[in-house]
Amino acid sequence: MQLLGRRVSSRKAAFWSSRFDQVADRLVTHYGVPKLGNFRDPVKEVFYIILSARTAEIQYRRIHRELFRKYSTLEKLAMAPRCKIVACINDGGLANKRAMQVRNIAGRMLADFGPSPSRALRKMNAEQAFTYLLGLPGAGPKSTLCVMMYSLDFDVFPVDVHVNRICARIGAIPKGLKHYQAQNMLPGLVPDGRSKELHVGLVVHGRRICTPRDPSCTMCFLKDLCRTGKAKRVA
Ligand code: SF4
Repeated sequence: MQLLGRRVSSRKAAFWSSRFDQVADRLVTHYGVPKLGNFRDPVKEVFYIILSARTAEIQYRRIHRELFRKYSTLEKLAMAPRCKIVACINDGGLANKRAMQVRNIAGRMLADFGPSPSRALRKMNAEQAFTYLLGLPGAGPKSTLCVMMYSLDFDVFPVDVHVNRICARIGAIPKGLKHYQAQNMLPGLVPDGRSKELHVGLVVHGRRICTPRDPSCTMCFLKDLCRTGKAKRVA
């Protein structure tokens, strides 16, 4: 399935599809398919992704836990005074803006589906889920695709900063692309059925080995598949 990114039938696309198969195999061998704290419940995941933007993992995990401890239902969240939500999520930054988004999302889902939106979301096909989730306040393509991949089991490929950076270093896309440009190019190169393994593996690899400033190419198990690694002629 390709959402944001058309399947391109060219020799180049075939090459990268096969290369990403190899990359996915190695990522799974080294990391398995790690859980990154995401939720099977798409409603909880929507808020988790919204709160995670530009916030350290330790903070957004704590804020999300606290938010659902205080407001255990969408009704409570939608009715909560904005200042109370701000106080609850204040540690994460952009608290005023996010508090509005959180309350508006809760209100929107309640109005559209009643108290159990998860069931309604699970019945949607990919295009319906994408359109609906993208229309929620504060949602962008990446957050929408994350909810679809982590919670609704669609084979879609969200591109975050780690994925963008590593795919550029490997050589699949040009370096320095804006987020939306990479999101438009990469899904068309990813082999069917491997999106989640690749996404979570690259996120972990980007945190541990292929870090933003100083990638550890000498110890990288992808170096023979990577244009940057080869250019450095690492042993
Ligand atoms: S070889 Fe270097 S640049 Fe390539 S994926 Fe590994 S750490 Fe990143």
